Amino acid sequence: MIVVMETTATREQINGVMARVKALGLGAHLSEGEERTIIGVVGSPLPPSLDDELEIHSGVERVVRITKKYKLTGWDFHPQKTRISVRDVVIGGDAVTVIAGPCSVESEEQTVETARAVKAAGASILRGGAYKPRTSPYDFRGLGRRGLEILATARKETGMPIITEVMTPSDIEAVAEFTDIFQIGARNSQNYLLLEEVGRAGKPVMLKRGLSLLLEEWLLAAEYVMAQGNPDVILCERGIRTFETATRNTLDVSSVPVIQGMSHLPIFVDPSHAAGKRALVPALALAGIAAGADGLMIEAHPNPDQALSDGAQSLTFQEFADLMPRIAAVAEAVGRSLPAAADIMRVPA
Ligand code: PEP
Ligand code: MN
Repeated sequence: MIVVMETTATREQINGVMARVKALGLGAHLSEGEERTIIGVVGSPLPPSLDDELEIHSGVERVVRITKKYKLTGWDFHPQKTRISVRDVVIGGDAVTVIAGPCSVESEEQTVETARAVKAAGASILRGGAYKPRTSPYDFRGLGRRGLEILATARKETGMPIITEVMTPSDIEAVAEFTDIFQIGARNSQNYLLLEEVGRAGKPVMLKRGLSLLLEEWLLAAEYVMAQGNPDVILCERGIRTFETATRNTLDVSSVPVIQGMSHLPIFVDPSHAAGKRALVPALALAGIAAGADGLMIEAHPNPDQALSDGAQSLTFQEFADLMPRIAAVAEAVGRSLPAAADIMRVPA
């Protein structure tokens, strides 16, 4: 249910409605637009008489029941597009954001070198896995806490915010100590307890699409994070499993405009995990931006042939640098921009 406040509603009137909703044991989520304030009410079941009760509160213009299953992620509850600030980087604004880095943090040298190279080419956020979900338990599973420390060193060296995956609630505290954005991987996209815990951790969350998630299920997964009071969720399409085996996954590029019709959350495309092959990454990256994605997440490595994970889909520094101007050109063609490398953050003091 949404409570649409009058344009003239006062702070006291807004607070009064919020307090009444909370007193009933329901969730109240405030969305303050330039013109109007909306209070989203969630809870189950909503009392049948609630509409009538809230409608007579002073400052309330109207009360509308929302029948869609997803609420906080949908436009009804939040009619403005979500913008998320991560240090100096704004996600979901006019500019597209490129996140780049290795699949796994392997060493300080490899990570810092990659951070410098992708930053010089125009990436604004550094990725790198310290806790790696691997299909086989015998593969390299990441450096753990040491990997987080290395990412923090790379941030200090370059000024780039960092994103890294958290796989289990018991690691959230350690990851939160270092990361700027939590990544929830495809395999964990419906791990509801993890989603709730990360929703309480006070930092933005990038939620990758699970291998077989319907778009509505994906939004409902994001809803778990937001229902804990965290509005800063970014979606990332990374390909889904289909009958096709020529690519690692099938990039569902249509999810970008469809999600944008359903939700105010920023949506990224990860062409690397979709393609599985380096040669296909540029085409899928450009397709993502052409479809309207708010950003890309791309794997790059100083020496992909020796990478401990996902080498086959990781770009060399040269390939990454060659791709960036093409991304800028497509961004411009769809009315967006890519911040020039020189505009990207200075090293903070
Ligand atoms: C990754 O980003 O390295 C990763 C494991 O991605 P996904 O969860 O999409 O497979
Ligand atoms: Mn990877």
